[in-house]
Amino acid sequence: MRSPYETWISEIMLQQTQVITVIDYFKRWIVHYPHLQALSQAKESELLDLWSGLGYYSRARNILTAARQIENNFAGKIPSTRHELLQLKGIGEYTAGAILSLAFNLREPILDGNVIRVFSRLYALNFLPNETAQKKIYWVHAHEWAQCSSPGLANEALMEFGALICTPKNPSCLLCPLQKKCLAFLQGSVLKFPPAKPMKKIMEIKGYALVLESKDSVLMCKPQKPELLAGLFTFPILPSIHRADSKKDLTLAWAKMFPDKPILPFVLAHKKVRHAITHHQFDLKVAKGIAASSKIIFGKNYIWVKRKAISEYLISSLPKKIWEAAHTSI
Ligand code: SF4
Repeated sequence: MRSPYETWISEIMLQQTQVITVIDYFKRWIVHYPHLQALSQAKESELLDLWSGLGYYSRARNILTAARQIENNFAGKIPSTRHELLQLKGIGEYTAGAILSLAFNLREPILDGNVIRVFSRLYALNFLPNETAQKKIYWVHAHEWAQCSSPGLANEALMEFGALICTPKNPSCLLCPLQKKCLAFLQGSVLKFPPAKPMKKIMEIKGYALVLESKDSVLMCKPQKPELLAGLFTFPILPSIHRADSKKDLTLAWAKMFPDKPILPFVLAHKKVRHAITHHQFDLKVAKGIAASSKIIFGKNYIWVKRKAISEYLISSLPKKIWEAAHTSI
């Protein structure tokens, strides 16, 4: 059985991330922060560096906040009730259920995407748990499932069953031990359950990433939409206006973004950057320019960073790719 600490960290890492990606990150994390006390004393920049590449950086920040909450409010021990766990930053119903059942072996329910699919088919539920009444029905089934002598094992088995047998596209119904009880199977309509999620629209951002330098400094900024990089710095991005002519386009985009600043001469790098973050697809040309002074003020979200300290700001993959493209000659 995993410890509450290991269960908590691994379950947070696994949110929106595949197991195969998480394995190395988890191993590194445990080497750096083997227990909660070490984690609660961590520096945020160090922790974000360790998280670099996993995305959704707010998860890492929430872990640090929660570790300090546990130190201060729960005498350094991960709490063992749902009510207390839900007070911790970044811990929702699913993670609370995972910690309580998998690590404390308590009869507490768990509901993830795999479990939802299994229940939807077993009980022919033709809705997803989006609204309160719908959620309640799924949680009642999950609660019933956990009422046994080994709730941790039962919950883990249920999630694995969803991942390996009752899979989204080709469920192994003919091998399934639940076949005789499965309403979707008995109705001959397994693939109708659960109903499809409405597709989230991907927003395309075409434009320019600016690497603007002045002597020993580089201009960086926080994205206007903070949810994009969870408050991490990147390079200024100018959305395209006139796509047919890059030079004209860049001039127009600059004038729109910085109407009170003189137009600067920029050179386009050879390499372009394509990068996807939470329903946004960036398709960027990288433009390099030199500013007369690093005293020019661009606004509250912008800072001039010393070139020798740039690596501390290249945490997310997007600014890393932009920086690399700006410094690749072919
Ligand atoms: Fe899933 Fe098929 Fe088993 Fe039903 S019979 S629970 S659909 S694998």
